[in-house]
Amino acid sequence: MANFKSRKVVIVGAGAVGSGFAFALAQSGIAEEITLLDVNTDLAKGQALDLAHGAPFYRPVSIQAGSAPDAYRNAAIVVVTAGKAQAGPGQSRLDLLQINAKIVTSIVSDIQSVNPDAIVLVATNPVDVLTHVARLRTDWPRGRILGSGTVLDSARFRWLLAEHCGISPQNIHASILGEHGDSEFAAWSLVHVGGLQMDDYCSVCGKCDFVRRRPQILEQVRRSAYHIIGYKGSTSFGVAMAMTQIVRAILRNERRVMTVSAPLEGEYGLRDVTLGVPCVLGANGIEEVIQARLTPDEMQQLAHSASVLQDSLAQLQ
Ligand code: NAD
Repeated sequence: MANFKSRKVVIVGAGAVGSGFAFALAQSGIAEEITLLDVNTDLAKGQALDLAHGAPFYRPVSIQAGSAPDAYRNAAIVVVTAGKAQAGPGQSRLDLLQINAKIVTSIVSDIQSVNPDAIVLVATNPVDVLTHVARLRTDWPRGRILGSGTVLDSARFRWLLAEHCGISPQNIHASILGEHGDSEFAAWSLVHVGGLQMDDYCSVCGKCDFVRRRPQILEQVRRSAYHIIGYKGSTSFGVAMAMTQIVRAILRNERRVMTVSAPLEGEYGLRDVTLGVPCVLGANGIEEVIQARLTPDEMQQLAHSASVLQDSLAQLQ
């Protein structure tokens, strides 16, 4: 098991996602040190100072700006949020591919040069393809470079189901799988409400025509980011909280199951692709990829998502 020398977390990219994550992480009390980096060094310095001024209200945590590659030394986890974001509701995550691939590749090379023991969590989009590319740059064991995957999408899904059923999201277990993007899908066969399978819960509840409602809920999940970007230009709070939970699961070796982007090595009949599937997270990053028993239709949707991602990987020079 990884033995963390520190609980230092480095965040690359101090924009909407990076700073939102830094704020959530500082409040969580999990990290003992948070370092922010950005090509816009003034932005990193300003965000770090602003966050550090909350010091009397957090559990002890040291927050500062740093520069690459020195800041990566001794980091337990480096979280990559640097790069271009979707510019408007019309731009898909895959449109960001070429430019962000260069950025993520150079960041991972820097990390590798000074801290080959780090765990790298990628959030920059398109997150599945970039996590895959980042791993190809290193010879690290699978599990030490992971992406935020569909953790946020699964949270949105749980929230929408909770709103629909009038049940706390904490009593809804549900996952969005595949690409963090347009080809993602809901694994309806895995949904549990209050411990009951969704179909059983619906037949007991009987208040709605849920067969008709299901595709609408999935579409709402898929369109969430486009909606929020249309309103406020970026998404940040939801992803910040999702990443805080991922980092917590790793630093505290919680063995928590979350749908991060994981490189598949034959699971679900797929390989040479990285996408969101349920994984056990612990001190080594991804400890295990869980092979859920999906329906044939869900398996087909996962294979479709994989082929969309493999096509965009092939477009990369
Ligand atoms: P932003 O423009 O607010 O911030 C990005 C920051 O990265 C900028 O401050 C920029 O200066 C910095 N940057 C660019 N190149 C860099 C480099 N080489 N080294 C260091 N810093 C660099 O964008 P944002 O809204 O914070 O989004 C960041 C990324 O996160 C985007 O790709 C976005 O699509 C993605 N995102 C992912 C999720 C998810 O669930 N995975 C959710 C929301 C956004």
